[in-house]
Amino acid sequence: MASRQEIQERIEAFSCELVAELGEVDASMGDCWLDAVENQAVELGDAISTELVRQIALRREVEAEAACPQCDQPGRYEGVRKRELIGRRGPVEITEPEYYCPCCRKAFFPEDPRDRR
Ligand SMILES: [Zn+2]
Repeated sequence: MASRQEIQERIEAFSCELVAELGEVDASMGDCWLDAVENQAVELGDAISTELVRQIALRREVEAEAACPQCDQPGRYEGVRKRELIGRRGPVEITEPEYYCPCCRKAFFPEDPRDRR
C-alpha cells in the first residue's frame, strides 16, 4: 500500500497532467476567475471520487456464501450485478455480489439495504 506521501505525489503529478490538458479556465464559468477554477476542480474531484468508488467496488473480494436476509440459511454466490447508486458525489455504477437462497428460492444482495431485515 502506498504511503500518504506517495499518494500525494501521484495526485500532484496527475493534477499537472490534467491542468496541461484542460488549458485555460473560462472565467465565465464562475462568479470570478477563482470561482471558475474551483468549480472545475470540484467537478473533477467528484469525477475522481465516483471512479474510486466504482473501482473499489470492482476489486472487492466476495465470499462463496452469505446468510440469507429472510431465513438466515447460507446462500450461494451467483455472480455480480451492476447497480447505479446516487453517492455523495453524484451517480455511480457499482458491482455487487448476488447470492441465491435455495430455501427461499430467491436471489439476494447482502450489500443492498432493501434486502436486509
Ligand atoms: Zn432464505
